[in-house]
Formats: sequence, C-alpha cells, structure tokens
Amino acid sequence: MKIPSRISAVLLSLLLPALAAAADHTSPSVGADVALARLKAGNQRFASASVSSSKPVAARRAATVNGQHPFAIIVGCADSRTPPEIIFDQSIGDLFVVRAAGNLVDDYGLGSIEYAVEHLGARLIVVLGHQKCGAVQAALSGGEAPGHIHALVSAIQPAVQATKGKPGDPLSNAVHENDALVAEKIRKKARLGDLTSQVRVVEGCYDLRTGKVEWAK
Ligand SMILES: [Zn+2]
Repeated sequence: MKIPSRISAVLLSLLLPALAAAADHTSPSVGADVALARLKAGNQRFASASVSSSKPVAARRAATVNGQHPFAIIVGCADSRTPPEIIFDQSIGDLFVVRAAGNLVDDYGLGSIEYAVEHLGARLIVVLGHQKCGAVQAALSGGEAPGHIHALVSAIQPAVQATKGKPGDPLSNAVHENDALVAEKIRKKARLGDLTSQVRVVEGCYDLRTGKVEWAK
C-alpha cells in the first residue's frame, strides 16, 4: 500500500510543475519589441568584443533545470560560424534555436516554432541568414546536388530565381531573398492561433567578417 502512495507522490511532484507551466503558457517571456532590442544590444556587445564575456553558466543551468522561458526564437543556418547564442551574447535558456542549412524551415521547424510560442512564451521569431552562405551558393551554382542536399538546394531555388539579373552581388541578393521567403513561410504557415498578433517575424543577416547582424527594415 505504501508503494502506490509513494508513486502517486512522485507523479504529483512531476505533474505540478508541468501543470503550472501549462497554465502559464500564453504569458510571454517579454514582448517582441523588447526581445528584439535585447538581441540588438547583445549583437553589439559581441561584434565589439575581441573575447567572449564570461557567463555564469552553472547558475543558469541550475535555474533552468525545471523549465525554460526563452525570449526569442532563432531560425538560423547550420553553418558552424553562425551560433546564435554567441552572436547575440546570450546564455542557456535565452534562445530557442531551430537550425538547418540555408536557415530553412520544414514541418519539424514549424512545429518547434509553434511549441516555443505557445508553451514557452517566445514572441519574437528571427530568421537569421548570413553572408557567404554555402547552401545559398550551392543553389546559385545550379547543377545536380547529391543525396538530401538536393532538397536543400531546391528549397532555396525560388530565392535564386527571384533575384536573377538584379543589380548587386548575386549571392548576397539571394541570401536576403531567401531570408524574406523563409520569414514569409513562417508568417503564413505557423499556426499560432490567437497569439499571432503578439508575434513578430523579423529578418536578420549576419556578416561573418564584422560579426554584425543587419536587420531588414
Ligand atoms: Zn549558411
């Protein structure tokens, strides 16, 4: 008889934080504008520093064991030179990051975004492309891509086609267009219900050389 009551106590201790989190699911971490200002300030710190600032990671790790409340969602490229936590000078628990080559989103990505908005309180979605993106370059170069790389390149082709013949650098133009198309896809396809009006989707483009993120409009 004692064992079931112990089990139910354990179950209750596991369930209570989950229920509390569920009840809290529509309250934002911070509003979209505040989140964007925080990212801009973080990027400024990163771009102007020659060494990464030391962070109290053990304390943050401990503080986030039982829950997370990230203030922004970053849809970034898988490129190893574009880690969002470093670029925006943030720590554990701050950013909910979805990454694939070419900062593309598929159904898994959209589901992740919906989860972070509905259950974790994030209200800002940043599509973070970058200059010299290899995935966009591959789409620009054309030709047959092997294996699953074909799927990535095909998904970036609309950006290449839309910018064909435009003045300026073809790769940079395609990178910006790809950012815009991914942002548009998120706006159209992410099912955010009555939270839609609270959510902002913005495009940023990271410069590998300067460390700065250039924001669209
Ligand atoms: Zn890339």
